[in-house]
Amino acid sequence: MAPAIDKTRPRDGVVRHPLWGGESAVWFCLRCDGKITGTQIAQNLWHCPGCGASPLDIFNTAFWCEDGGISLPSAKNDGAERDKPDFKVVDDRPKLDVNEDKIILLMRSALLDDATNISEKLGALQAQISVDDDDVRISLEDDLWPHDKEPIQALTVAAQLGLKVEIESMWSTLPFHWPGLGELTPSTSEYTQLMLDAYAQYGGSPDKKAKE
Ligand SMILES: [Zn+2]
Repeated sequence: MAPAIDKTRPRDGVVRHPLWGGESAVWFCLRCDGKITGTQIAQNLWHCPGCGASPLDIFNTAFWCEDGGISLPSAKNDGAERDKPDFKVVDDRPKLDVNEDKIILLMRSALLDDATNISEKLGALQAQISVDDDDVRISLEDDLWPHDKEPIQALTVAAQLGLKVEIESMWSTLPFHWPGLGELTPSTSEYTQLMLDAYAQYGGSPDKKAKE
């Protein structure tokens, strides 16, 4: 019975090809005609140290040469003759994809720029914005956004994006009563206090309602 050979350990630089299993201490690269030692090719994970060719191009005999590769030069490891690496360069520069969600986000942000008090801010946050081809339609709550107030920033941003704007009023359920309170202040905390006070004075307590 022949002694088992440990094929995982190089013997005097003899290594085994990972794909088709031939063993040799000298290997040849079909792509650059380089001669490679077994230690070199194993350390380089079976890629040619000269040109980066994959294991598919590495053979233990240079069958394409008349002398089997004896006259071939050793593969250079300095990279000077190296071809371009064998992988695609991924272009990871950011690309702008202006979809409907992003247009709506920018338009709403611009409406917030136009808002000068809490009432208008709530109007901007609650605006219904839709995009159809080159048109953007903005519906503003009539009780929150003054009917005659032109959203200059929103119109500017739309022009920058090459969009035409259609503005219309809408009447929906308001989040809080007395929308006029929001016109008294640019501060959300001040508005909140005014609104809480108004509910305390003129409204029913929500806690009380829940207990009934
Ligand atoms: Zn090579």
